[in-house]
Amino acid sequence: MARYIFITGGVVSSLGKGLASAALGALLQARGYSVRLRKLDPYLNVDPGTMSPFEHGEVFVTDDGAETDLDLGHYERFTGVSARKTDSVSSGRIYSTVLDKERQGLYLGKTIQVIPHVTNEIKDFIEIGDDEVDFQLCEIGGTVGDIEGLPFFEAIRQFGQERPRGQCIFMHLTLLPYLGASGELKTKPTQHSVKELRSIGLAPDVLVCRSEHKIPEKEREKLALFCNVRPDSVIAAPDLKSIYEAPIAYHNEGLDRAVLDAFGINPAPKLDLARWDDIEDRLHNTDGEVKVAIVGKYTALSDAYKSIAEALTHAGFHHRSKVHAHWIEADLFDQDDAKVHEMLSGYSAILVPGGFGERGTEGKIRAAQYARENKIPYLGICLGMQMAVIEAARNLAGIKDAGSEEFDDESGREKCTPVVYYLKEWVEGNSKQTRSSDDDKGGTMRLGAYTATLAEGSRIAEAYGANTISERHRHRYEVDVKYRKQIEDAGLKFAGMSPDGQLPETVEYEDHPWFIGVQYHPELKSKPFAPHPLFTSFVEAAIKKSRLV
Ligand code: GLN
Repeated sequence: MARYIFITGGVVSSLGKGLASAALGALLQARGYSVRLRKLDPYLNVDPGTMSPFEHGEVFVTDDGAETDLDLGHYERFTGVSARKTDSVSSGRIYSTVLDKERQGLYLGKTIQVIPHVTNEIKDFIEIGDDEVDFQLCEIGGTVGDIEGLPFFEAIRQFGQERPRGQCIFMHLTLLPYLGASGELKTKPTQHSVKELRSIGLAPDVLVCRSEHKIPEKEREKLALFCNVRPDSVIAAPDLKSIYEAPIAYHNEGLDRAVLDAFGINPAPKLDLARWDDIEDRLHNTDGEVKVAIVGKYTALSDAYKSIAEALTHAGFHHRSKVHAHWIEADLFDQDDAKVHEMLSGYSAILVPGGFGERGTEGKIRAAQYARENKIPYLGICLGMQMAVIEAARNLAGIKDAGSEEFDDESGREKCTPVVYYLKEWVEGNSKQTRSSDDDKGGTMRLGAYTATLAEGSRIAEAYGANTISERHRHRYEVDVKYRKQIEDAGLKFAGMSPDGQLPETVEYEDHPWFIGVQYHPELKSKPFAPHPLFTSFVEAAIKKSRLV
């Protein structure tokens, strides 16, 4: 039976609960335990798949095809444990399951209520895989006091009561604001937040306090007294330069000890932080730097491309190089070649990430052309590969009106030649998947891990050091294999294909220092201690380029 750590937040949102949970997971692993992390989100969307990246940041896709919260990306990056569909749930999903059951008559005529029907559904979710790991860490999204969070708080309260004593603990993350005028860290908002928690029956065992400054002993004691927490379970979570400093920083503040102590595990098992020491060393001892332009559409919110930024950082760790990612709005040079040069000429590499909708796509096509013509390393991810193919089709293969059906669907104008088309049927494992244009928008993309076969001797096979790979997908449209010969004859090779040879998975130019497009999202699998091979290869090319300019 697993032990459970429930992580809640108070005072303000965006305190970095996900990161604190992930760092705690890493520390428990460093003490030899197995862990799994989960996110319970109170919003009413069934999953974040249909939310704009501006709303919710990146959608993190799991191997088994779930569209989940970006915190699951942190969990994977810090623990190396691949997230699953069952590691993320929202109120929307819980309610929709309860309502489905009601329609099927499974409640045998009862009146359906938040307690017990909704809370039971939440508890059933929490204990999935109970016998698989030593610790399950469950983070509750939002802040204590939010109306929609109440069923989750009630469910974890019940869960804690129903389990044997000592099986569940509660960790609460808050903010200690600093008042410059009086030079003080204020504890009152934290006291109120804990009071709010206690009013719904939850008492924190560990209090993690974000603060810009060290917590003076007097304030720590005050927090302990007023919040009914032991003084050494009041953990300071200082602001950090890099998120990868979190495991060691939190350990130095006593987080893992406080947690184990709350479970009565004392003395704590031996700790091995070698992995994180190495990362800290790479973080602080770099030798050189490179500038990479990311030409995208949701550049105003860096969380929208969280995993890409992290994967570049990891590749930087590998090469001991600091990678500066600069976000550039693609529609700034939608129609303007001079502007492309002005905005992209100072970079050692160009990355065009995934995206949806037409806005900015002409700019992305121009960015691909600029990278191709000027021999700048280019990595196109998902939409970024589709744009590179359209660029090659238009400018090299003579298909002047090449485009994607995605944009035809949106605009009323004359239809393009769809070198990128809406896929309606494909093979997944041993089964056939189908869909139609009027399907729901949620959960109907080609999602999750698929295998690709990479051509012997191709650049991409060399980067991976393998000919068969498995990567995560999240897209509705595909490059049409029907144009393969025409586009390959013009220079862009379809080096990676789905095992049945029907779906182009990767493209590349042979006569370019480094130009690769991939239909999948390699960034989702990169870890600081296991950087993704495609990103390390891309950053290596960027470093070489930077030495030339
Ligand atoms: N919009 C494109 C598609 O659906 C690309 C998606 C993506 O980049 N993730 O195929």
